[in-house]
Amino acid sequence: MSVDRHTHVLIVGGGPGGYVAGIRAGQLGLETVVVDGQALGGTCLNVGCIPSKAVIHAADEYATALEQAASAPLGISVRDPQVDLAKVTAWKDGIVGRLTGGVAGLLAKAGTSVIEGWASVVDGKTVDVIGADGSRQRISCDHLIIATGSDPVELPGLPFGSGHEDRVLSSTEALALTEVPEHLAVVGGGYIGLELGTAFAKLGSSVTVVEAEGRILPQYDHGLTAPVASRLAELGVEVLVDTRANEATDDGLVVEGPDGTRTVAADKILVTVGRRPRVAGFGLAHLGLTMAGSFIAIDERCHTSMRNVWAIGDVTGEPMLAHRAMKQGEVVAEAIAGQPAVFDPVAIPAIVFTDPEIVSAGLDPDQAMAKGVDVIVGRFPLSANSRSMTLGQPGQRGFVRTVARADDHLIVGLQAVGHGVAELSTAFGLAIEMGARLEDVADTIHAHPTVGESLAESALAALGHALHS
Ligand code: FAD
Ligand code: NAD
Repeated sequence: MSVDRHTHVLIVGGGPGGYVAGIRAGQLGLETVVVDGQALGGTCLNVGCIPSKAVIHAADEYATALEQAASAPLGISVRDPQVDLAKVTAWKDGIVGRLTGGVAGLLAKAGTSVIEGWASVVDGKTVDVIGADGSRQRISCDHLIIATGSDPVELPGLPFGSGHEDRVLSSTEALALTEVPEHLAVVGGGYIGLELGTAFAKLGSSVTVVEAEGRILPQYDHGLTAPVASRLAELGVEVLVDTRANEATDDGLVVEGPDGTRTVAADKILVTVGRRPRVAGFGLAHLGLTMAGSFIAIDERCHTSMRNVWAIGDVTGEPMLAHRAMKQGEVVAEAIAGQPAVFDPVAIPAIVFTDPEIVSAGLDPDQAMAKGVDVIVGRFPLSANSRSMTLGQPGQRGFVRTVARADDHLIVGLQAVGHGVAELSTAFGLAIEMGARLEDVADTIHAHPTVGESLAESALAALGHALHS
């Protein structure tokens, strides 16, 4: 087959990694083509970060309305709140549409072309693209960027779409539901399972979470996850730990735990046991790239083991987060343009959008200790934060925690759990990336009244003289 088109940079995948690489490469004057078989924006904009946070927000609003109707703690009368999930889903789809349309506009503004179609790799400089209409074109390039993202992991006994009335769902189908399931079983108490499990519990589902490890969110320390576990209990969510799911039956989900085998009632079963890199099914094996486990191995410039073949985003490793993919997208475009760009962050902040939220950047106290770093830790309770009280969270169980080297007070980690702490991720990332010491944070005037004041207080606590606790 002869080549139909040549471009300097060819990007396979238009998710947060691929589209950002496309924008930056275009800004740098590189002739660039982005190929995606689905809508621009990838998992994050279409079926991940954005739709999940929209549904979580709608569920929070509904839960607040129910709380006001029950006891009017703020003196606001609300009568008989109802939720229409079809309308929530339509509202969420509107947000997704605005954002994916915005990505198309940004790529066009940067002068980058977009081709809708599935790419299959022929060699390190050639890709075939099959369009939705069956048309086929061969594109050659000087630089190939693989940004194909990830897919949800399926469990052998619970394939997606199986069971009575397509009972077994991935997050994609769960985010498209138009009716609230009466009984929802969630397999996997990690990021997605708890974010969506909490949202559906607030929307009215009776939710059971089945987690294989000994506690939910096992990657976070107990102090951070305990307030989330308490809130799940308050919402009536049943959490089964040390338990594995086996198969779906007409009655629900068969699980095996410390007390033996039982069937959990479930008209829908949401399986969220992790995601795996999308490296198969499009000819990537032809390149014989060096792998790091199931991920594509890359260096600090996001370069693979093959000359002028690059890889970014979920396909390259953990943490599989949109902001990591986006930063790699910038780096790779600048590296191709000959700039001295490297992907070498001190910390990648992570947020779990549960109730309450968890945010973490850098090392927690146990991780610091495991690395042999002698640390001091400051912890400030959000129950002592005035802004939390005015936000209707008088009994906040959360806290902000600062982890710093004992000898020179360099901050190596910042964590928080609490209502509205997600926005602290910006300050956490900035402090660690800029090499802040406890004194830098403590001496910075934090505006009052804000939840962010708790960051300065936690630095003061590490120095031994918190002011408000
Ligand atoms: P993707 O976004 O997966 O994009 C890959 C793109 O490549 C897709 O559009 C796909 O169609 C395309 N593609 C694949 N193969 C081909 C091919 N052969 N030809 C053409 N196109 C191809 N992360 C966060 O940071 N914060 C969050 O709050 C968050 N929430 C999430 C919630 C859910 C429910 C899920 C599922 C994920 C969430 N994530 C979140 C993770 C985030 O979505 C991913 O880390 C991010 O999308 C990865 O970006 P990417 O560019 O690597 O890949
Ligand atoms: P996860 O890795 O966060 O959680 C999976 C959970 O499933 C783990 O707790 C694991 O112990 C459990 N598990 C594994 N096998 C099991 C089994 N057979 N039975 C019961 N439990 C089992 O994975 P996820 O929730 O699917 O999310 C995938 C990725 O998407 C995340 O790791 C994250 O990178 C990304 N994500 C991020 C956000 C965010 O940034 N807020 C939100 C959603 C997703």
